[in-house]
Amino acid sequence: MAPIREIINPSTEEVIAEVPSLGIAETDVAIGKAVRGLEHWRKLAPAERARLLRAFGAKVYEHNEELAQLEVKNSGHTISNSRWEANNVGDVITYYAGSVERLMGRQIPVPGGVDITFKEPIGVVGVIVPWNFPMPIASWGFAPALAAGCSVILKPAEITPLTAMRIAELAHEAGIPEEVFQVVTGSGRVVGERLVTDPRVRKIVFTGSTEVGIHIQKLAADHLKAVTLELGGKSANVVFADADLDKAAATAPYSVFDNAGQDCCARSRLLVQESAYDGFMSRFEAAVKGVKVEDPRLDSSEMGPLISAGHRETVQSFVDEDLVLFRGSCPTGSGYWYPPTVIEVKDPAHRSIREEIFGPVVAVQTFRDEEEAIAMANDSDYGLSGSIWTSNLGRGLRVARGIETGALSVNSHSSVRYWTPFGGYKKSGIGRELGPDATDAFCETKNVFINTEI
Ligand code: NAD
Repeated sequence: MAPIREIINPSTEEVIAEVPSLGIAETDVAIGKAVRGLEHWRKLAPAERARLLRAFGAKVYEHNEELAQLEVKNSGHTISNSRWEANNVGDVITYYAGSVERLMGRQIPVPGGVDITFKEPIGVVGVIVPWNFPMPIASWGFAPALAAGCSVILKPAEITPLTAMRIAELAHEAGIPEEVFQVVTGSGRVVGERLVTDPRVRKIVFTGSTEVGIHIQKLAADHLKAVTLELGGKSANVVFADADLDKAAATAPYSVFDNAGQDCCARSRLLVQESAYDGFMSRFEAAVKGVKVEDPRLDSSEMGPLISAGHRETVQSFVDEDLVLFRGSCPTGSGYWYPPTVIEVKDPAHRSIREEIFGPVVAVQTFRDEEEAIAMANDSDYGLSGSIWTSNLGRGLRVARGIETGALSVNSHSSVRYWTPFGGYKKSGIGRELGPDATDAFCETKNVFINTEI
Protein backbone atom coordinates (compact mmCIF):
# COMPACT_ATOMS: atom_id res chain seq x y z
CA MET A 1 0.00 0.00 0.00
CA ALA A 2 1.30 3.43 -0.94
CA PRO A 3 1.74 5.88 1.95
CA ILE A 4 -1.05 8.41 2.36
CA ARG A 5 -0.80 12.20 2.21
CA GLU A 6 -3.31 14.38 4.01
CA ILE A 7 -4.77 17.18 1.93
CA ILE A 8 -5.39 20.43 3.81
CA ASN A 9 -7.94 23.20 3.23
CA PRO A 10 -5.81 26.39 3.37
CA SER A 11 -8.77 28.52 4.48
CA THR A 12 -9.51 26.41 7.56
CA GLU A 13 -6.35 24.28 8.06
CA GLU A 14 -8.62 21.18 8.19
CA VAL A 15 -7.77 17.82 6.60
CA ILE A 16 -10.21 17.34 3.71
CA ALA A 17 -8.91 14.18 2.02
CA GLU A 18 -6.26 11.49 2.04
CA VAL A 19 -4.50 10.69 -1.21
CA PRO A 20 -1.96 7.94 -1.99
CA SER A 21 1.61 9.03 -2.49
CA LEU A 22 2.66 6.62 -5.23
CA GLY A 23 6.12 5.17 -5.64
CA ILE A 24 8.31 4.14 -8.54
CA ALA A 25 6.64 0.74 -8.99
CA GLU A 26 3.15 2.27 -9.33
CA THR A 27 4.48 4.94 -11.70
CA ASP A 28 6.02 2.23 -13.87
CA VAL A 29 2.66 0.45 -13.99
CA ALA A 30 1.00 3.69 -15.10
CA ILE A 31 3.61 4.19 -17.84
CA GLY A 32 3.05 0.61 -19.07
CA LYS A 33 -0.69 1.27 -19.23
CA ALA A 34 -0.13 4.54 -21.09
CA VAL A 35 1.97 2.72 -23.71
CA ARG A 36 -0.96 0.33 -24.30
CA GLY A 37 -3.42 3.24 -24.29
CA LEU A 38 -1.36 5.01 -26.93
CA GLU A 39 -1.68 2.09 -29.35
CA HIS A 40 -5.45 2.33 -29.15
CA TRP A 41 -5.81 6.11 -29.08
CA ARG A 42 -3.44 6.98 -31.91
CA LYS A 43 -5.27 4.62 -34.28
CA LEU A 44 -8.76 5.94 -33.57
CA ALA A 45 -10.39 7.70 -36.50
CA PRO A 46 -9.92 11.46 -35.92
CA ALA A 47 -13.69 12.00 -35.94
CA GLU A 48 -14.07 9.51 -33.08
CA ARG A 49 -11.22 11.04 -31.06
CA ALA A 50 -12.80 14.46 -31.57
CA ARG A 51 -16.21 13.13 -30.49
CA LEU A 52 -14.79 11.68 -27.26
CA LEU A 53 -12.94 14.89 -26.44
CA ARG A 54 -16.09 16.93 -27.04
CA ALA A 55 -17.97 14.57 -24.69
CA PHE A 56 -15.19 15.08 -22.12
CA GLY A 57 -15.45 18.87 -22.47
CA ALA A 58 -19.24 18.65 -22.04
CA LYS A 59 -18.80 16.61 -18.82
CA VAL A 60 -16.46 19.25 -17.43
CA TYR A 61 -18.97 22.03 -18.19
CA GLU A 62 -21.75 19.94 -16.59
CA HIS A 63 -19.68 19.50 -13.41
CA ASN A 64 -18.47 23.10 -13.25
CA GLU A 65 -19.93 23.84 -9.84
CA GLU A 66 -18.68 20.59 -8.29
CA LEU A 67 -15.12 21.15 -9.60
CA ALA A 68 -15.19 24.79 -8.50
CA GLN A 69 -16.30 23.89 -4.95
CA LEU A 70 -13.56 21.26 -4.77
CA GLU A 71 -10.93 23.79 -5.81
CA VAL A 72 -12.13 26.29 -3.21
CA LYS A 73 -11.59 23.62 -0.55
CA ASN A 74 -8.28 22.29 -1.81
CA SER A 75 -6.57 25.49 -3.01
CA GLY A 76 -8.39 28.34 -1.28
CA HIS A 77 -9.22 29.94 -4.63
CA THR A 78 -12.25 32.19 -4.57
CA ILE A 79 -15.43 30.57 -5.82
CA SER A 80 -15.72 33.04 -8.73
CA ASN A 81 -12.16 32.30 -9.88
CA SER A 82 -12.69 28.56 -9.43
CA ARG A 83 -15.80 28.62 -11.63
CA TRP A 84 -13.78 30.46 -14.28
CA GLU A 85 -10.95 27.92 -13.97
CA ALA A 86 -13.28 24.91 -14.34
CA ASN A 87 -14.93 26.61 -17.31
CA ASN A 88 -11.51 27.23 -18.85
CA VAL A 89 -10.83 23.47 -18.69
CA GLY A 90 -14.06 22.79 -20.61
CA ASP A 91 -13.18 25.49 -23.15
CA VAL A 92 -9.65 24.20 -23.68
CA ILE A 93 -10.75 20.58 -24.15
CA THR A 94 -13.49 21.65 -26.58
CA TYR A 95 -11.12 23.96 -28.49
CA TYR A 96 -8.55 21.19 -29.03
CA ALA A 97 -11.30 18.66 -29.85
CA GLY A 98 -11.88 20.98 -32.82
CA SER A 99 -8.26 20.64 -33.91
CA VAL A 100 -8.23 16.82 -34.15
CA GLU A 101 -9.80 16.71 -37.60
CA ARG A 102 -7.62 19.56 -38.86
CA LEU A 103 -4.33 17.94 -37.85
CA MET A 104 -2.79 17.26 -41.23
CA GLY A 105 0.48 17.03 -43.07
CA ARG A 106 1.38 18.47 -46.48
CA GLN A 107 2.11 17.38 -49.99
CA ILE A 108 5.35 19.05 -51.04
CA PRO A 109 6.35 19.37 -54.70
CA VAL A 110 9.64 17.55 -55.35
CA PRO A 111 11.24 16.21 -58.53
CA GLY A 112 10.89 12.49 -59.33
CA GLY A 113 7.89 11.63 -57.22
CA VAL A 114 5.37 12.58 -54.59
CA ASP A 115 6.33 13.78 -51.13
CA ILE A 116 3.93 13.65 -48.23
CA THR A 117 4.35 14.69 -44.58
CA PHE A 118 2.29 13.11 -41.80
CA LYS A 119 1.67 14.46 -38.30
CA GLU A 120 2.03 11.57 -35.88
CA PRO A 121 1.55 11.61 -32.09
CA ILE A 122 4.85 11.93 -30.23
CA GLY A 123 3.87 9.15 -27.79
CA VAL A 124 3.23 8.99 -24.06
CA VAL A 125 3.23 12.49 -22.53
CA GLY A 126 3.87 13.35 -18.88
CA VAL A 127 2.16 16.54 -17.71
CA ILE A 128 3.57 17.82 -14.40
CA VAL A 129 1.72 20.75 -12.86
CA PRO A 130 2.09 23.11 -9.89
CA TRP A 131 -0.30 23.88 -7.07
CA ASN A 132 -1.25 27.43 -8.00
CA PHE A 133 -3.74 26.72 -10.83
CA PRO A 134 -4.33 22.96 -10.67
CA MET A 135 -7.18 22.84 -13.20
CA PRO A 136 -6.40 25.15 -16.14
CA ILE A 137 -2.68 24.48 -16.27
CA ALA A 138 -3.29 20.72 -16.40
CA SER A 139 -5.69 21.14 -19.31
CA TRP A 140 -3.29 23.35 -21.31
CA GLY A 141 -1.00 20.30 -21.38
CA PHE A 142 -3.33 17.32 -21.55
CA ALA A 143 -5.96 18.65 -23.99
CA PRO A 144 -3.70 19.31 -27.03
CA ALA A 145 -1.73 16.15 -26.22
CA LEU A 146 -4.88 14.00 -26.28
CA ALA A 147 -6.04 15.80 -29.43
CA ALA A 148 -2.75 14.93 -31.15
CA GLY A 149 -3.32 11.24 -30.35
CA CYS A 150 -0.94 10.96 -27.37
CA SER A 151 -1.75 9.15 -24.15
CA VAL A 152 -1.27 11.27 -21.03
CA ILE A 153 -0.09 10.78 -17.46
CA LEU A 154 -0.93 13.82 -15.37
CA LYS A 155 0.97 14.47 -12.15
CA PRO A 156 -0.67 17.15 -10.00
CA ALA A 157 1.21 18.93 -7.22
CA GLU A 158 1.36 16.94 -3.99
CA ILE A 159 -0.88 19.38 -2.09
CA THR A 160 -3.56 20.06 -4.73
CA PRO A 161 -4.49 16.79 -6.46
CA LEU A 162 -8.27 16.69 -5.94
CA THR A 163 -9.60 18.43 -9.05
CA ALA A 164 -7.15 16.59 -11.33
CA MET A 165 -8.40 13.27 -9.94
CA ARG A 166 -12.02 14.27 -10.53
CA ILE A 167 -11.30 15.56 -14.05
CA ALA A 168 -9.76 12.18 -14.95
CA GLU A 169 -12.92 10.43 -13.73
CA LEU A 170 -14.99 12.74 -15.94
CA ALA A 171 -12.77 11.86 -18.92
CA HIS A 172 -13.39 8.15 -18.29
CA GLU A 173 -17.14 8.72 -17.87
CA ALA A 174 -17.08 10.47 -21.25
CA GLY A 175 -15.58 7.35 -22.85
CA ILE A 176 -11.85 8.16 -22.91
CA PRO A 177 -10.13 4.90 -21.86
CA GLU A 178 -8.40 4.86 -18.47
CA GLU A 179 -5.11 3.88 -20.10
CA VAL A 180 -5.25 6.97 -22.32
CA PHE A 181 -5.62 9.51 -19.51
CA GLN A 182 -4.29 8.73 -16.02
CA VAL A 183 -3.53 10.76 -12.93
CA VAL A 184 -0.63 9.72 -10.70
CA THR A 185 -0.38 11.32 -7.27
CA GLY A 186 2.87 11.57 -5.36
CA SER A 187 6.03 13.55 -4.92
CA GLY A 188 7.92 15.35 -7.65
CA ARG A 189 11.19 13.69 -6.65
CA VAL A 190 9.73 10.19 -7.05
CA VAL A 191 6.78 10.16 -9.45
CA GLY A 192 7.74 13.28 -11.39
CA GLU A 193 11.35 12.25 -11.92
CA ARG A 194 10.30 8.77 -13.00
CA LEU A 195 8.14 10.29 -15.74
CA VAL A 196 11.06 12.48 -16.83
CA THR A 197 13.62 9.67 -16.87
CA ASP A 198 11.62 6.71 -18.22
CA PRO A 199 12.35 6.43 -21.96
CA ARG A 200 8.81 5.23 -22.67
CA VAL A 201 7.57 8.76 -21.86
CA ARG A 202 8.46 10.79 -24.95
CA LYS A 203 7.55 14.30 -23.90
CA ILE A 204 7.27 16.26 -20.66
CA VAL A 205 5.17 19.34 -20.19
CA PHE A 206 6.31 20.89 -16.94
CA THR A 207 4.83 23.94 -15.25
CA GLY A 208 6.46 25.03 -12.03
CA SER A 209 9.45 26.79 -10.57
CA THR A 210 12.46 27.75 -12.65
CA GLU A 211 14.72 25.81 -10.29
CA VAL A 212 12.86 22.52 -10.84
CA GLY A 213 12.43 23.29 -14.55
CA ILE A 214 16.20 23.54 -15.00
CA HIS A 215 16.63 20.25 -13.13
CA ILE A 216 14.04 18.59 -15.37
CA GLN A 217 15.67 19.84 -18.53
CA LYS A 218 18.99 18.36 -17.39
CA LEU A 219 17.38 14.99 -16.61
CA ALA A 220 15.48 14.99 -19.91
CA ALA A 221 18.67 15.76 -21.84
CA ASP A 222 20.04 12.29 -21.00
CA HIS A 223 17.14 10.83 -23.01
CA LEU A 224 16.91 13.61 -25.60
CA LYS A 225 13.35 13.97 -24.42
CA ALA A 226 11.24 16.88 -25.64
CA VAL A 227 10.25 19.33 -22.91
CA THR A 228 7.94 22.30 -22.70
CA LEU A 229 8.77 24.38 -19.65
CA GLU A 230 6.40 27.01 -18.21
CA LEU A 231 8.30 28.55 -15.31
CA GLY A 232 8.38 31.51 -12.97
CA GLY A 233 7.83 35.21 -13.63
CA LYS A 234 8.51 38.69 -12.28
CA SER A 235 6.42 40.72 -14.66
CA ALA A 236 6.06 44.48 -14.93
CA ASN A 237 2.93 46.60 -14.98
CA VAL A 238 4.07 49.77 -16.78
CA VAL A 239 1.89 52.85 -16.28
CA PHE A 240 2.55 55.90 -18.47
CA ALA A 241 1.33 59.36 -17.48
CA ASP A 242 -0.94 59.52 -20.55
CA ALA A 243 -2.86 56.39 -19.43
CA ASP A 244 -6.43 56.36 -18.19
CA LEU A 245 -5.23 56.43 -14.58
CA ASP A 246 -8.65 55.52 -13.17
CA LYS A 247 -8.76 52.29 -15.15
CA ALA A 248 -5.07 51.48 -14.69
CA ALA A 249 -5.30 51.94 -10.91
CA ALA A 250 -8.62 50.10 -10.57
CA THR A 251 -7.29 46.97 -12.32
CA ALA A 252 -3.71 47.03 -11.01
CA PRO A 253 -4.60 45.13 -7.78
CA TYR A 254 -6.10 42.30 -9.81
CA SER A 255 -3.01 42.05 -12.00
CA VAL A 256 -0.96 41.02 -8.98
CA PHE A 257 -3.25 40.02 -6.09
CA ASP A 258 -5.39 37.63 -8.11
CA ASN A 259 -5.09 34.14 -6.60
CA ALA A 260 -3.36 35.84 -3.65
CA GLY A 261 -0.43 36.68 -5.94
CA GLN A 262 0.29 32.98 -6.48
CA ASP A 263 0.26 33.53 -10.21
CA CYS A 264 3.18 33.12 -12.59
CA CYS A 265 1.79 36.10 -14.57
CA ALA A 266 1.46 38.37 -11.51
CA ARG A 267 2.65 41.88 -12.34
CA SER A 268 4.67 42.05 -9.14
CA ARG A 269 6.72 45.05 -10.32
CA LEU A 270 4.69 48.21 -10.75
CA LEU A 271 6.55 50.80 -12.85
CA VAL A 272 4.94 54.24 -12.75
CA GLN A 273 6.04 57.24 -14.81
CA GLU A 274 7.40 59.88 -12.40
CA SER A 275 5.04 62.63 -13.58
CA ALA A 276 1.98 60.44 -12.82
CA TYR A 277 3.19 59.02 -9.52
CA ASP A 278 1.02 61.02 -7.10
CA GLY A 279 -2.13 60.83 -9.24
CA PHE A 280 -1.77 57.11 -9.83
CA MET A 281 -0.72 56.09 -6.32
CA SER A 282 -3.63 57.80 -4.55
CA ARG A 283 -6.08 55.94 -6.81
CA PHE A 284 -4.12 52.70 -6.45
CA GLU A 285 -4.12 52.91 -2.64
CA ALA A 286 -7.91 53.21 -2.61
CA ALA A 287 -8.19 50.22 -4.98
CA VAL A 288 -5.83 48.04 -2.90
CA LYS A 289 -7.69 48.82 0.30
CA GLY A 290 -10.93 47.86 -1.45
CA VAL A 291 -9.85 44.31 -2.39
CA LYS A 292 -12.16 41.90 -0.55
CA VAL A 293 -9.98 39.31 1.15
CA GLU A 294 -12.41 36.91 2.76
CA ASP A 295 -13.79 33.38 2.92
CA PRO A 296 -13.27 32.10 -0.65
CA ARG A 297 -16.66 30.36 -0.60
CA LEU A 298 -18.42 33.74 -0.70
CA ASP A 299 -19.40 35.10 -4.10
CA SER A 300 -18.08 38.50 -3.00
CA SER A 301 -14.60 37.16 -2.14
CA GLU A 302 -11.84 38.53 -4.39
CA MET A 303 -8.85 36.97 -2.68
CA GLY A 304 -8.43 33.86 -0.54
CA PRO A 305 -5.58 32.65 1.65
CA LEU A 306 -2.07 31.58 0.69
CA ILE A 307 -1.59 27.88 0.04
CA SER A 308 0.27 26.92 3.25
CA ALA A 309 1.83 28.16 6.48
CA GLY A 310 5.31 27.60 5.06
CA HIS A 311 4.55 29.67 2.00
CA ARG A 312 3.19 32.51 4.15
CA GLU A 313 6.48 32.56 6.06
CA THR A 314 8.40 32.82 2.78
CA VAL A 315 6.27 35.76 1.62
CA GLN A 316 6.72 37.49 4.98
CA SER A 317 10.50 37.03 4.80
CA PHE A 318 10.55 39.27 1.69
CA VAL A 319 8.31 41.94 3.19
CA ASP A 320 10.39 42.03 6.40
CA GLU A 321 13.20 43.58 4.34
CA ASP A 322 11.09 46.23 2.62
CA LEU A 323 9.38 49.55 3.19
CA VAL A 324 5.62 48.91 3.21
CA LEU A 325 3.81 51.86 1.60
CA PHE A 326 0.30 50.59 2.37
CA ARG A 327 -1.67 47.36 2.55
CA GLY A 328 -5.20 46.01 2.51
CA SER A 329 -6.79 43.92 5.21
CA CYS A 330 -7.38 40.19 5.65
CA PRO A 331 -9.11 37.84 8.11
CA THR A 332 -7.35 36.67 11.26
CA GLY A 333 -7.63 33.25 12.91
CA SER A 334 -7.53 29.92 11.05
CA GLY A 335 -6.27 29.96 7.48
CA TYR A 336 -3.06 31.13 5.83
CA TRP A 337 -4.19 34.73 5.27
CA TYR A 338 -1.97 37.55 4.04
CA PRO A 339 -3.03 41.11 3.18
CA PRO A 340 -2.47 42.73 -0.22
CA THR A 341 0.79 44.61 0.33
CA VAL A 342 2.48 47.43 -1.59
CA ILE A 343 6.19 47.98 -1.03
CA GLU A 344 8.62 50.58 -2.31
CA VAL A 345 12.00 49.36 -3.52
CA LYS A 346 14.64 51.82 -4.70
CA ASP A 347 17.51 49.37 -5.26
CA PRO A 348 17.02 47.36 -8.49
CA ALA A 349 19.35 44.69 -7.12
CA HIS A 350 17.11 44.03 -4.11
CA ARG A 351 15.67 40.51 -3.97
CA SER A 352 12.05 41.72 -3.85
CA ILE A 353 12.65 43.13 -7.35
CA ARG A 354 14.61 40.17 -8.68
CA GLU A 355 12.93 37.09 -7.16
CA GLU A 356 9.44 35.70 -7.50
CA ILE A 357 7.65 36.32 -4.15
CA PHE A 358 4.52 34.43 -5.29
CA GLY A 359 2.30 36.21 -2.80
CA PRO A 360 0.13 39.36 -2.74
CA VAL A 361 3.05 41.77 -2.74
CA VAL A 362 3.86 44.38 -5.37
CA ALA A 363 7.01 46.52 -5.52
CA VAL A 364 6.65 50.06 -6.86
CA GLN A 365 9.38 51.80 -8.87
CA THR A 366 9.36 54.93 -11.02
CA PHE A 367 10.71 55.69 -14.51
CA ARG A 368 11.32 58.88 -16.51
CA ASP A 369 10.55 57.95 -20.11
CA GLU A 370 9.78 55.19 -22.56
CA GLU A 371 13.38 54.10 -22.93
CA GLU A 372 13.89 53.75 -19.20
CA ALA A 373 10.58 51.89 -18.81
CA ILE A 374 11.67 49.26 -21.34
CA ALA A 375 15.10 48.93 -19.75
CA MET A 376 13.61 48.50 -16.26
CA ALA A 377 11.01 45.99 -17.44
CA ASN A 378 13.78 43.99 -19.10
CA ASP A 379 16.06 44.12 -16.06
CA SER A 380 14.94 40.67 -14.92
CA ASP A 381 15.96 37.05 -15.39
CA TYR A 382 12.32 36.32 -16.19
CA GLY A 383 10.13 37.18 -19.17
CA LEU A 384 6.63 35.78 -18.91
CA SER A 385 3.97 38.44 -18.89
CA GLY A 386 3.29 42.15 -18.38
CA SER A 387 0.99 45.10 -19.01
CA ILE A 388 1.43 48.56 -20.52
CA TRP A 389 -1.01 51.37 -19.79
CA THR A 390 -1.03 54.29 -22.22
CA SER A 391 -3.52 56.18 -24.39
CA ASN A 392 -0.94 56.24 -27.21
CA LEU A 393 -1.32 52.90 -28.99
CA GLY A 394 1.83 53.51 -31.02
CA ARG A 395 3.75 53.74 -27.76
CA GLY A 396 1.90 50.71 -26.42
CA LEU A 397 3.05 48.61 -29.35
CA ARG A 398 6.60 50.03 -29.32
CA VAL A 399 7.02 49.22 -25.64
CA ALA A 400 5.40 45.78 -26.07
CA ARG A 401 7.88 45.01 -28.86
CA GLY A 402 10.74 46.25 -26.67
CA ILE A 403 9.98 44.12 -23.62
CA GLU A 404 11.36 40.59 -23.70
CA THR A 405 8.39 38.63 -22.45
CA GLY A 406 6.04 36.09 -24.00
CA ALA A 407 2.57 37.52 -23.24
CA LEU A 408 1.97 41.28 -23.03
CA SER A 409 -1.27 43.22 -22.74
CA VAL A 410 -1.83 46.88 -23.60
CA ASN A 411 -4.49 48.53 -21.43
CA SER A 412 -5.50 45.18 -19.94
CA HIS A 413 -4.41 43.29 -16.84
CA SER A 414 -5.03 39.77 -18.13
CA SER A 415 -2.55 37.48 -19.88
CA VAL A 416 -4.15 34.22 -20.80
CA ARG A 417 -6.58 33.64 -23.64
CA TYR A 418 -6.73 30.03 -24.75
CA TRP A 419 -6.91 31.02 -28.43
CA THR A 420 -3.46 32.61 -28.28
CA PRO A 421 0.03 31.25 -27.51
CA PHE A 422 1.34 31.51 -23.96
CA GLY A 423 4.86 30.98 -22.62
CA GLY A 424 8.03 32.67 -21.50
CA TYR A 425 11.30 34.22 -22.60
CA LYS A 426 14.53 33.81 -20.64
CA LYS A 427 14.15 31.92 -17.34
CA SER A 428 10.36 31.86 -17.71
CA GLY A 429 10.50 28.84 -19.96
CA ILE A 430 10.83 27.10 -23.28
CA GLY A 431 8.04 26.50 -25.79
CA ARG A 432 4.47 27.75 -25.95
CA GLU A 433 1.16 26.36 -24.78
CA LEU A 434 -2.35 27.22 -25.99
CA GLY A 435 -3.25 28.88 -29.28
CA PRO A 436 -3.86 27.27 -32.65
CA ASP A 437 -0.46 25.55 -32.91
CA ALA A 438 -0.26 23.84 -29.51
CA THR A 439 -0.92 20.37 -30.92
CA ASP A 440 2.31 20.64 -32.97
CA ALA A 441 4.30 20.27 -29.76
CA PHE A 442 2.81 16.78 -29.39
CA CYS A 443 3.48 15.60 -32.95
CA GLU A 444 6.40 14.17 -34.85
CA THR A 445 6.52 15.08 -38.53
CA LYS A 446 7.11 12.07 -40.78
CA ASN A 447 8.20 12.59 -44.35
CA VAL A 448 7.46 9.93 -46.99
CA PHE A 449 8.77 10.12 -50.56
CA ILE A 450 7.21 7.93 -53.27
CA ASN A 451 9.33 7.47 -56.37
CA THR A 452 7.00 7.72 -59.37
CA GLU A 453 9.69 7.03 -61.93
CA ILE A 454 10.19 3.30 -61.49
P1 NAD B 1 7.46 23.29 -8.21
O1 NAD B 1 8.48 23.48 -9.26
O2 NAD B 1 7.91 23.08 -6.83
O3 NAD B 1 6.55 22.00 -8.54
C1 NAD B 1 5.81 21.90 -9.74
C2 NAD B 1 5.51 20.43 -10.00
O4 NAD B 1 6.74 19.73 -10.24
C3 NAD B 1 4.83 19.69 -8.85
O5 NAD B 1 3.90 18.76 -9.37
C4 NAD B 1 6.00 18.95 -8.19
O6 NAD B 1 5.60 17.79 -7.51
C5 NAD B 1 6.84 18.60 -9.40
N1 NAD B 1 8.26 18.38 -9.11
C6 NAD B 1 8.98 18.90 -8.10
N2 NAD B 1 10.25 18.42 -8.15
C7 NAD B 1 10.32 17.60 -9.23
C8 NAD B 1 11.35 16.82 -9.81
N3 NAD B 1 12.58 16.78 -9.28
N4 NAD B 1 11.08 16.09 -10.92
C9 NAD B 1 9.84 16.14 -11.47
N5 NAD B 1 8.82 16.84 -10.95
C10 NAD B 1 9.05 17.58 -9.85
O7 NAD B 1 6.47 24.52 -8.36
P2 NAD B 1 5.23 24.92 -7.43
O8 NAD B 1 5.77 25.47 -6.15
O9 NAD B 1 4.24 23.81 -7.38
O10 NAD B 1 4.56 26.10 -8.31
C11 NAD B 1 4.95 27.41 -8.26
C12 NAD B 1 5.86 27.77 -9.41
O11 NAD B 1 5.23 27.46 -10.65
C13 NAD B 1 6.14 29.26 -9.48
O12 NAD B 1 7.50 29.46 -9.76
C14 NAD B 1 5.30 29.74 -10.65
O13 NAD B 1 5.75 30.90 -11.29
C15 NAD B 1 5.37 28.55 -11.56
N6 NAD B 1 4.26 28.59 -12.52
C16 NAD B 1 4.52 28.87 -13.85
C17 NAD B 1 3.47 28.95 -14.77
C18 NAD B 1 3.69 29.25 -16.23
O14 NAD B 1 2.80 28.99 -17.02
N7 NAD B 1 4.84 29.80 -16.62
C19 NAD B 1 2.17 28.74 -14.32
C20 NAD B 1 1.95 28.47 -12.97
C21 NAD B 1 3.00 28.38 -12.09
